[in-house]
Amino acid sequence: MKHVIVIGAGYGGLRAVEHLAAQSSLRITLIDKNPYHYLQTEAYGYIAGRFDLHDVAIDLPYWCEGFKQRVVFIRDEVRGIDTAQRRISLGDTELSYDYLILAIGAETNFFSFIPGLREHSFGVKKLQRAFGFRSAFEQLLYEKVESSEGEAVHVAIGGAGLSGVEIAAEMADVIKKHARSIASATAQIKIHLIDASDTILPGMHPYIITQTTRRLHDLGIIIMTGAFIERVEPHRLYFKDGRSLDFRFMIFTGGIKASPIAIEPELPLNRIGQFEVDATLRLEERLFAIGDCAQLRSSDGSLLPPTAQSAERSAEYAADAIIALERGEAPKPFDAAMQGVFVALGGHYAVGELFGRIHVKGTLAYYLKKLITYTYHLGLKLRVNTGFKKRSTYM
Ligand SMILES: Cc1cc2nc3c(=O)[nH]c(=O)nc-3n(C[C@H](O)[C@H](O)[C@H](O)COP(=O)(O)OP(=O)(O)OC[C@H]3O[C@@H](n4cnc5c(N)ncnc54)[C@H](O)[C@@H]3O)c2cc1C
Repeated sequence: MKHVIVIGAGYGGLRAVEHLAAQSSLRITLIDKNPYHYLQTEAYGYIAGRFDLHDVAIDLPYWCEGFKQRVVFIRDEVRGIDTAQRRISLGDTELSYDYLILAIGAETNFFSFIPGLREHSFGVKKLQRAFGFRSAFEQLLYEKVESSEGEAVHVAIGGAGLSGVEIAAEMADVIKKHARSIASATAQIKIHLIDASDTILPGMHPYIITQTTRRLHDLGIIIMTGAFIERVEPHRLYFKDGRSLDFRFMIFTGGIKASPIAIEPELPLNRIGQFEVDATLRLEERLFAIGDCAQLRSSDGSLLPPTAQSAERSAEYAADAIIALERGEAPKPFDAAMQGVFVALGGHYAVGELFGRIHVKGTLAYYLKKLITYTYHLGLKLRVNTGFKKRSTYM
């Protein structure tokens, strides 16, 4: 039986396991340093206090148990890979593989050329950091509920890409609702959305940019584009043009870099540390890289953005390629394009674009986005329930 190891239980890793588990001829091991799958796409609601922990985390041991065929889960950090020996090293053991899928994702790029950025801001790519930010935001809301003073407090969000925009909008919506129903002093919490580009959501369709800008203004968010952060000190941001901003706390979503991993011999990486995979998403005959940790291209050669969508498509492809290789067939080149994008913009409001042609906004867009995430989450939860029941029967 061939052994497939999948490193990383994010959107890509889980989808790869789901596809591979349908093959009884394969033995599958999933490894992650955390015991949970973190639904990063829902982080905006978690941070703003709209969603709870169970909306953004899934138990991995139970999820793996939920398959008919045995899928082994190992909670550990992979420290190194020896591609010549086809071995990986964990904390205190080694494992060998026939096929390896690297799905280790990415982390926030707290650019080293911006002094103080890492030390004085939160990230959202890790659940632990998102939890820290949620707690800080909740504390601030509570302070405003207790006080009747109207002193302005500033929250800085660095990076106006998809995640920064969603977080800003959800927080602003929560603030608006608190100010109306609990304490008017909450209205003094000001959200600043900061980006060095001359637009929010750089690279997205003009419809999405225009509608989002309108909604962010309605929510009272202060949009600062063309604002290049030069350095960050405790509670103060300095911009290149000489301006500064005092803030209570800051979150940075302005860039990502692939999660690091030691590979012997070294493999080609791009400027943000992503693996430069070939047209079949391979780095070697039996080594695939998928999702955010890989530089993915669509069939026309253009770069695919690092999204859950790209992670899932590349995972399905890698799993099918392994099955094809086992049959002695050569995999066809990876061919995927973005199907669309939905941006959650606080409360029951979103804007979306499908297949580059269909545009939606408002409650309809919100429910379409919700349907996508609900279907994804439900699939995971059903498998966790199966795993939980299975485990309970042998205990
Ligand atoms: C706030 C926010 C909103 C977003 N919204 C959207 C959206 O609406 N639509 C969309 O498509 N995308 C969205 N994204 C992007 C999406 O979440 C990522 O593109 C997606 O998570 C990438 O999946 P992945 O499987 O490549 O990596 P990840 O989901 O990051 O998973 C990587 C896994 O690898 C593990 N790992 C890393 N290194 C090791 C190691 N050495 N050993 C063991 N385990 C390791 C990590 O613990 C993690 O579980 C959003 C992201 C954020 C932060």
